[in-house]
Amino acid sequence: MADEQPALECPCCGNGGLRDFYRTEQIPSHSCLLMNTFDEATSFPRGDLQLAVCRQCGFIANTLWDETLVAYANSYEETQHFSDTFHRFATELAQRWIDEYDIRGKRVLEIGCGKGEFLALLCELGDNRGIGVDPSVIPKRIPAHTRNRIEFIPEYYTAAHARLDADVICCRHTLEHIAATAGFVDQLRRSIGDRRDVTVLFELPDVTRVLRETAFWDIYYEHCSYFTAGSLARLFRAASFDVIDIDRVYGDQYLILAATPTTGPTPPRLQIEHDLDDTLRDVDDFADRHPRSIAVWRARLGELSGGGKKVALWGAGSKCVSFCATLPASDQIACVIDINPHKQGKFLPGTGHRVVSPEDLRSDPPDVVVPMNSIYSTEIANELDRLGVSAQLLALESLDGGV
Ligand SMILES: [Zn+2]
Repeated sequence: MADEQPALECPCCGNGGLRDFYRTEQIPSHSCLLMNTFDEATSFPRGDLQLAVCRQCGFIANTLWDETLVAYANSYEETQHFSDTFHRFATELAQRWIDEYDIRGKRVLEIGCGKGEFLALLCELGDNRGIGVDPSVIPKRIPAHTRNRIEFIPEYYTAAHARLDADVICCRHTLEHIAATAGFVDQLRRSIGDRRDVTVLFELPDVTRVLRETAFWDIYYEHCSYFTAGSLARLFRAASFDVIDIDRVYGDQYLILAATPTTGPTPPRLQIEHDLDDTLRDVDDFADRHPRSIAVWRARLGELSGGGKKVALWGAGSKCVSFCATLPASDQIACVIDINPHKQGKFLPGTGHRVVSPEDLRSDPPDVVVPMNSIYSTEIANELDRLGVSAQLLALESLDGGV
């Protein structure tokens, strides 16, 4: 590992001595905001990213993160619900949480509800009522019969929302966007007050897999906070929660956590929490391996485009923006495909690729398709078959083997 930064305090546990281990410069400051023109996309604001790990709790932060660079509003097109794979996962997770924590006939608050699809699922499947807080919410995307069950508040979640009383508080893919992590979880705990019968449910990316797979495309600007199971549990336990379950889901890409409020800090009691030594070792390994991973992809894209092959990336989300910006590889990628109609025709921040629909591939088929998330590989292969496009699928994680 490289330099130590004793001056920086860990935003989770307050200890000093964060250690840098990864740096990438001038990457787009947002990777889900799609632009209406090529010029807007290529002149999108950029920032530098430097990951550092806390040796006390295993938390990882972008220590160069600048909040003022991160815009977030209606044009934030984060939804993955257009994918059957993702929709099935979301439905299964909603049903799992309803069954495990008896979320039926309850009042559910979702902090950072995005477009509101998941909250709608919880309300439909468990006959619940919902409150969704998110500045990017678009209530009209939710079917009218479910919309009646949900109060949408198009704002950032703040201390002012503590007045919202709920039996279940759910927060998915939000904590990784928050730099003051302990401040956020402390505020959440205070908002619950004296109630003990509240269930808190979180979902967020697991950095363990990112480190072990050297998945540099999963590190992007708007994610300023990166958790392992252990560092997440330690944060909640210190903030007077008992962590009752942590699990890995979605091909080990995400962590889900369930917690209940207590009167003080709680000791670890789940096997999965004891990961600090492993995390520090994973960080060292990532620091050693990522230059090769980046070099292999640079060389591979150079060979393919040099040999006249058209390479397409499938999935115009954060991974795609990060992958292109980190290499960088704008000229060697022929196009970027996405099944979300709200993304098609728009332009990717950074490289400025125009997002095309799968149907567009019929007239201009690629030779190689790289799924930006391997969990969609089967779905993508089926779609290519349907379109009559015989492109080779190349996994992001494959560092060996020719093409
Ligand atoms: Zn820490």
